[in-house]
Amino acid sequence: MPPLMRSNEEAHLYLTLNPCPCGGQDAHRDSGVRIEGETWIVRYTCVCEQCGRSRVAEFRQADEPVRPPAGSWSVGEEPSELVDAGEWLAVSDLYAGAPGSPEGLDEAQRRQAREDLLSAAAAVREALKFFADDDTLPREALWSERGLRLYDADPGRFDQERLESLRRTYLSLAGEFA
Ligand SMILES: [Zn+2]
Repeated sequence: MPPLMRSNEEAHLYLTLNPCPCGGQDAHRDSGVRIEGETWIVRYTCVCEQCGRSRVAEFRQADEPVRPPAGSWSVGEEPSELVDAGEWLAVSDLYAGAPGSPEGLDEAQRRQAREDLLSAAAAVREALKFFADDDTLPREALWSERGLRLYDADPGRFDQERLESLRRTYLSLAGEFA
């Protein structure tokens, strides 16, 4: 059974994090669904803009597909089956590259900065979903090369309290751009 996609947004994030082996981005992605037993399977076909090769990825759809609110990748408390805790932290780092202050930005730039900071906070939230009841990160929460590399570089970042405080910082910064 292919891994669960909790939303279209999450599937697209996974496809972006796992591009064509040549490293090129996708020129386009087509998707189709089929049912196997009682499970809906979504099949994405992606065509690389750089080398023209296509690759295929399949995901299992949730029993009741839900649309997460803007700026988040999922609803509920279940951690991702596609993107590991380290990759979520890497994604949050990317979005957190927003300007540090709204000064000198026009309205569109402010809105973009706000959305990026909310996405950064949502990505940290996804990393937090992997933590166990005893506030530790289980080994199974890291399976990607990128995630493991980030962990090895600085295991201290994978601390529940530190991540919660990071998330609050992004949320409060986002408020300054409203
Ligand atoms: Zn390619």
